[in-house]
Amino acid sequence: MNKCIHLEVTCINPYEIVRKYRCNTCDEVMMCACEEEFARRFLPHQLIYGKELNTQERIPVTIGFQKNICNTCRGLPEKAYPKAETYGRGSKIRRYYWREIYFETTRRFGDWVDSQNHIDYLVARGKYPEVYSKLEKSVIEEIKKLHNLSPKYIYQEKSQKQVLEENKVEVVKFKGVHIKRKEQRKIGILEGTEILSPEDFVSHHYKQHGYDVIVAESIPFHVIFGIFMWLLIQDYKDPLVRIVGFGDRKAADKRLKGEVIYTHRPEDFGTSGYAKRRSKAITEHFTLIKSENDMLWLFDYWLEPSEGLRQYLWAHRNADIARARKIVSILSKDTLIKILKYLITDYWKRYTGWPDLIVYNKQELFMVEVKSSKDKLREDQKNWIYGNSKELHLPFKLAEIHKKTK
Ligand SMILES: [Zn+2]
Ligand SMILES: [Zn+2]
Repeated sequence: MNKCIHLEVTCINPYEIVRKYRCNTCDEVMMCACEEEFARRFLPHQLIYGKELNTQERIPVTIGFQKNICNTCRGLPEKAYPKAETYGRGSKIRRYYWREIYFETTRRFGDWVDSQNHIDYLVARGKYPEVYSKLEKSVIEEIKKLHNLSPKYIYQEKSQKQVLEENKVEVVKFKGVHIKRKEQRKIGILEGTEILSPEDFVSHHYKQHGYDVIVAESIPFHVIFGIFMWLLIQDYKDPLVRIVGFGDRKAADKRLKGEVIYTHRPEDFGTSGYAKRRSKAITEHFTLIKSENDMLWLFDYWLEPSEGLRQYLWAHRNADIARARKIVSILSKDTLIKILKYLITDYWKRYTGWPDLIVYNKQELFMVEVKSSKDKLREDQKNWIYGNSKELHLPFKLAEIHKKTK
């Protein structure tokens, strides 16, 4: 019998719905009893193993549910694990309280399903999305009120001002007439008689001053990553490389169903654990890249064999490939290697948030993030700014377009 009282535990992945904890003393893996009822009712298939956050390794649960395991049950404050900003999860309440929102909405929806004599929870979930989202809305409202009274989580994110100051970001100020556009959600800026996107408005300004501009953002960097790293990532000597199937991205672009595409990818792809596990192979791969003098030649040579990985990464579109090729032609090999190293270290945490523009002429090159008035930096953009100061060291400016009346 295990007599351990599991005084200190480590959560193996706080982003799982049913969290698994490993005891620091006896090494057993367990879940907290306070979640047992919910978990058995709604997620019975998630109780057998957990997936470690940094390695995606499967960790079997060895002793089921135990009492007083989670911080709340131990009377300790809960640490915040905000989710990344994605569409539909912009507000802080949604990003910080995602677990609470999920638990409470699911519970209420489950009760509703029971009261309706529906056959199955999952069937109802697909059939009545509007009931679910209505319940979710009221749950969010309630949590908002609770948060204002006594917050469970302290929002720990830094303000835009703080981020800009700490990283000594140069801010370039523009003035432009802001126009609300009905068809797109984004603001337009008046340039003569034309309405431009904020990015095009700033590009236009730099072009008038003799610069060339690439509208970049993140995706061209995914193309560059896919092309220069496929040989390492899909290395058949890597014991964790598996076949993965996904929907044809090119068909998806045309809103067609398409066939399933298969490619190779390590189980822990994109995690910081991958970079640690494969550090020797990564070093060897960069030695190989450094030995090549012509990066554009290598780009063209590896374009086709990297197709599978690039489709997996949504880095398959011709327009993005063209922009990526242009970027490779203007950045030095050292800079490209720095970017690849930055991405391979923690891909899923670093692949978004890249600046809108690359501005360059014969003398200089810098990256620019464009913000119209009221538009604020997203969390992944702040993350990129910190990563840039620490590791990438690319010249970077923030272009702010302030409101001007006609
Ligand atoms: Zn223990
Ligand atoms: Zn608990």
